[in-house]
Amino acid sequence: MSLSMEGKRMLVVSAHPGDVLWRCSGAVAKHVKLGGTATIIVVTYGTGGEANELMKAGLTVAEAKALRKRDLTRSAEILGADIEFWDMQDYRFEITQDKIMKLAQKIRDLRPSLILTHHGKDILNPDHGYMLEYVNMSLEVATGHGVPLDGAPADRAPIFCFEPHDSESNGFVPNLFVDITDVIDIKKAAMATCELKAPLAETYVNRAKYRGQNAGSFGRKGCKYAEAYEAIYPIAEYGYFVW
Ligand SMILES: [Zn+2]
Repeated sequence: MSLSMEGKRMLVVSAHPGDVLWRCSGAVAKHVKLGGTATIIVVTYGTGGEANELMKAGLTVAEAKALRKRDLTRSAEILGADIEFWDMQDYRFEITQDKIMKLAQKIRDLRPSLILTHHGKDILNPDHGYMLEYVNMSLEVATGHGVPLDGAPADRAPIFCFEPHDSESNGFVPNLFVDITDVIDIKKAAMATCELKAPLAETYVNRAKYRGQNAGSFGRKGCKYAEAYEAIYPIAEYGYFVW
């Protein structure tokens, strides 16, 4: 089956900069390669935790933010995606009405065809779990008629959760594999912009290999690398069995 994503808009909402790279950069690259567009929102700079190496090395919070912005801007160029840095507070990420309205307006403006974000539970990083609640609530608001936002109500885009670092502890059960075999080099190049996290890049290439084997077991022939996702909404669009 030949796929085209022309006219399809992917929105990625990521708690921290690195999550985009490890968890879904293959899908972003693939979506763009298939003709779609992708917008990445990095909600916080991760200076409370993800940037620990930078803080230990003596960088100030402002310097760490600048470095993370530089790295991820380069990654987004490699992936062919737009990127926005919202610089909200991490550790702990708090879901407020203002933040919901900001993301809801973004959803109305962008009108995404699909949304990628975190799984709803991550005991090693609770901010990740809050992100799904934040996205789902904002999507609900964006679809509403009586809310004080600009533009027409958005359609309800399907949300796909990308894989946490430790899947088993968080009950992550993939029900969709994205074959990233033809874009694995792009994923590697995007991850390579983040030098201080190089060991993680190797971990996630290995994870992609493992998920590629999973995808192959379930019938995806020739798949060497994959990313795993959990769709949180049932698929109703086709009104029939879809495979
Ligand atoms: Zn994170």
